[in-house]
Parts: sequence; C-alpha cells; structure tokens
Amino acid sequence: MAKQERAEIGVIGGSGLYDLAGLERPEVVRVPTPFGAHSGPLVVGELRGRRVAFLPRHGRGHLVPPSAIPARANVYALKALGVTQVVGVSAVGSLRADYEPGHLVVPHQLVDWTKGRASTFFGEGLVVHVSLADPYCLRLRADLADAARAAANTPVHDSGTYICMEGPQFSTRAESELYRFLKMDVIGMTAAPEAKLAREAELCYAGLALVTDYDCWHSGAEDVDADQVSQVMARNAEAAVNTLAALIEKLPADPECPCRNALAHAIITDRTAVPQVVRDQLELLIGGHLSH
Ligand SMILES: [Zn+2]
Repeated sequence: MAKQERAEIGVIGGSGLYDLAGLERPEVVRVPTPFGAHSGPLVVGELRGRRVAFLPRHGRGHLVPPSAIPARANVYALKALGVTQVVGVSAVGSLRADYEPGHLVVPHQLVDWTKGRASTFFGEGLVVHVSLADPYCLRLRADLADAARAAANTPVHDSGTYICMEGPQFSTRAESELYRFLKMDVIGMTAAPEAKLAREAELCYAGLALVTDYDCWHSGAEDVDADQVSQVMARNAEAAVNTLAALIEKLPADPECPCRNALAHAIITDRTAVPQVVRDQLELLIGGHLSH
C-alpha cells in the first residue's frame, strides 16, 4: 500500500456526517478485504497534521441501512490502512430527560439487541473470545470527552449506556419504556457490532453520539422521525467535527493500550490446529498471535 494511503486514526461517520470537513489532500481509496466491500467511499487525508481515514458507514447519500452495513469490511479496511484508533460517530435517541437533543454523549457501555448481524471476524477453525467488559477504549473515550468539552460548544455527557437495536423502524412506545426501565441512556442502530469488531481487530474504539431526539417515550416531545434526526444532526455536525479535530490533534501517535493486545488471551483454539486457510485469510488480524 502506498504511503500516502496509510492512516493512523479512523473516523466512521453516521447519519448526517458523510464528509469530514477540513480533511486536507483527500484521496478516495478502496481497500480489499476478506469480508467484501467496505461502505464507500473511504477517504484518506490529513487533519491537523495527522493521517486520518474517514468512512461514512451508510455510504455517501445514505444508501446502506443499519442491518446491511458491512461492519466487518469497514473495520478490517481501517486496520489494513494502519489505523490504530477509531471514533464511531452516530445519531442517537435519548432515553432520559437530561440528555437533550443537541447534546453529545460519549458512551461507556453497550447493550447489543441487534439480531443476526455478522458480529465477529472469527469462526470455524479459530475460536476467539475477546473481553468486552469495557466495550469502549477507556483511554480514547476519556480523551474524546475532554475534546468534546473543549471544542463542541454544547453540553457533553461523558458516560451513558448505548442500546443498539436492529431497526430500521424506530422503537414502539412500549419498547422505549422498556429500555428506560432497563436504565439504558441512548438508543441507536449501529454501535454493535462495530465496537465488538474494533476490539477483535485490536483497535482503540470510542463512540461520539449526538442526541437527535427523545425516541418516543417523552410526552412533551414529538415522536422521533427520520427528518428530525437529519435536521438535528445537520445543525450539530459542526460540534462533532470540531470535537474530532480537537481530539485528533492531541491523540498519542502510538498509544500503549490493552485494546491493542486484545487477542493475547482470547484465542481458545489450539494454535497449532488452526487451518492454513484461516491463517491466510486472517493474517492481518491474528498473524502476531499465531506465530509464537
Ligand atoms: Zn484502547
């Protein structure tokens, strides 16, 4: 891969964030992966002097629904570019009154209520159980929350439990009340399996969630619809972009972090028994862990 196509920081854009403003010398790249095509287009450039890869997870023009996002290809492609740290930006509904539309949330926990999405790189021939006790990188999410507070000009919540639903329909009122009963804080359709796959790929991953609505539980607010999500996201995209720029400027180049060695104690298959075809296919992800 040409040097100018390499990147160290990945940004995955969500609803309303299809370009990364300020990305200099952008080049569209296509990265082959064993998991098919990534959401396109993947753009690599420079932001605040750092090499950044930007990938709109729904594609430009929002063509890909949540259930069809090629999350494995997306995460693999970022890894292949040399990325070590990823921020996933997303629009979310709020399940609590004090997380208001327009606010930013840096979630600390994740509940995966998706159904049947391809959520692991591994399978037959190589069984891997990574820890997801803390699904978001503790270091990166702390830096992200600091950057948001410094740059976003809107209230920032530095914790929250994100429940990921399958969609594409929004919640029923009963579901929305159930999630509130379960003490979920925000709801979206994309953090899973993205966060899980980032951990399997040994990438530091954090989420930047922009509250666009109150889902449908709030009697004093309109029930969420897609227009509302787009409008609030468009008004607040600048807060997200400013946050990302402030974060990227300060991120360590080569962070020491447990995420980057997440597979060290996660492979349960006898390493000598892993079929060659699996080794070849997943070399980028597991090469360093099978050779010794
Ligand atoms: Zn980390």
